[in-house]
Amino acid sequence: MPGTASARARRRLLFLHTGGTLSMVRRSHPGPLEPDHYDRHVLPYVRGLEDLADIEACLVCAIDSSDMSPALWERIAAEVARGRERYDGFVVLHGTDTMAYTAAALSYMLRGLDRPVVLTGSQRPIAELRTDARANLVHSAMCATLDLPEVGLFFGDRLFRGNRASKVSIQAYDAFASPNFPPLLRVGVDVVPEAPALRQPGPFQLQAGFRPDVAVLHLVPGQDPRALHALVDTGARAVLLLGFGEGNLPASRWPQAIAEVSARGVAVIVLSQCRSGSAVAGRYQGSAAARDAGAIYGLDHTVEAAVVKAMWLLGQGLDRQGLADRFPCPIAGECTPAPA
Ligand code: ASP
Repeated sequence: MPGTASARARRRLLFLHTGGTLSMVRRSHPGPLEPDHYDRHVLPYVRGLEDLADIEACLVCAIDSSDMSPALWERIAAEVARGRERYDGFVVLHGTDTMAYTAAALSYMLRGLDRPVVLTGSQRPIAELRTDARANLVHSAMCATLDLPEVGLFFGDRLFRGNRASKVSIQAYDAFASPNFPPLLRVGVDVVPEAPALRQPGPFQLQAGFRPDVAVLHLVPGQDPRALHALVDTGARAVLLLGFGEGNLPASRWPQAIAEVSARGVAVIVLSQCRSGSAVAGRYQGSAAARDAGAIYGLDHTVEAAVVKAMWLLGQGLDRQGLADRFPCPIAGECTPAPA
């Protein structure tokens, strides 16, 4: 197991609060859950955390994560960059709905990261008796004291590589999965490592910058390829096409549409509608024709990791050819490269 807090000097952690159900309250009955503030509603519910580490908190925002944005991703990353000298690890408290996108965004921006950044949240507010928030917070803080220098996402009983995780359940306390990469740690009576942590070469550098002109098109049987042109006409510079199975597309009309939008400088990235496995071209006619028309095959990225990666690569100034070259290469362990 990676070095424990007790074996080393006492750790200093920063909790970066962004909102989500964990800290929400219901102000009227009946009425919706609404974001509230961290200091009044979270800390008093997890007494004993201070035995684990010295913990300080910073309020980045208090929102439902549906309102998260690239500008807020950059603020969270800036707090990590600013706190690196002072803190050994970071816990980002976040709504579950878009947590996987934020985890991916942080993993691309924090180049050469040398300490843990762990995102977590909960399905029920921390003030409720049957909450999952306390256990998630305690385990996330524990993970943030370990020698795991990457962006992780803790939920239920597992620490995932953040850019490999997806929210897969609205109901379950075990709400996240990582279909194409094993969890980094599994937490039960013992803490069991299941995959080695990422070790990135330094020096640390915050590389912000996103272009949000990325669209996702979930293909359905019989779909007219004018749907692709419509997305490009409204400003998309990259389109993630969720194909069938291994990344198959209809063999007629779609290759021509892909060739046309590629000629306009748009990156068409093909992923699969299946969560598990890798989108690669060539086994079937439709994928071979799409590849020959200019489609970039997106391997085993989650949709969240792929959308944010396309935004980030565009934000770094890359054009369609730049995306074709860089998208299939891992930046922070988010995909498995195709065999040479
Ligand atoms: N809507 C909430 C959010 O993402 C859901 C949650 O936190 O579980 O902020």
